[in-house]
Amino acid sequence: SSENADAKNLRVKLVLLGDSGVGKSCIVLRFVRGEFDATSKVTVGASFLSQTIALQDSTTVKFEIWDTAGQERYSALAPLYYRGAAVAVIVYDITSPESFKKAQYWVKELQKHGAPDIVMALVGNKADLHEKREVLTDDGMELAEKNGMFFIETSAKTADNINQLFEEIGKRLPRPSP
Ligand code: GDP
Ligand code: MG
Repeated sequence: SSENADAKNLRVKLVLLGDSGVGKSCIVLRFVRGEFDATSKVTVGASFLSQTIALQDSTTVKFEIWDTAGQERYSALAPLYYRGAAVAVIVYDITSPESFKKAQYWVKELQKHGAPDIVMALVGNKADLHEKREVLTDDGMELAEKNGMFFIETSAKTADNINQLFEEIGKRLPRPSP
């Protein structure tokens, strides 16, 4: 994995995977810039953003976040995208059962081809759209539990659970031995 050697200051590559339109770019923008732009255009090309957080034990984690326009859909490119990633965040939209199916695909793909110690998080986004919900919280929880993943429902729109998502990932990162 890509943590650096300093036990108190981790630096990790994080990739986001999931169907187009589930809110990957919005989650990143909310986390990094504290913004939500409902009119934002589709990501053009791959974008790269970083954000550092401090955990309660005073460890800092610098997330180097890779967000793409969906190039990872071409299965030949996917391994290039998540190679060296210490963290994979698999996102679906709670109003879209199809996106949940795609999330299950990504879980399998990463188990086969991802780094053995990769930290995986499962995220049900658009939790603000509860009236249109079609994927039960329990279904997300079950998928995550079966696969040893962290699970959370978020809203990039309201900012609900966005910081919590990254804090929980930080807590689960393997610490380099001193
Ligand atoms: P990506 O293709 O996975 O990167 O998805 P985007 O981040 O581009 O978001 C796709 C669409 O979903 C945009 O119209 C966003 O405004 C909308 N969206 C993203 N996150 C949320 C959310 O938490 N709640 C709601 N209601 N809409 C969202
Ligand atoms: Mg995007």
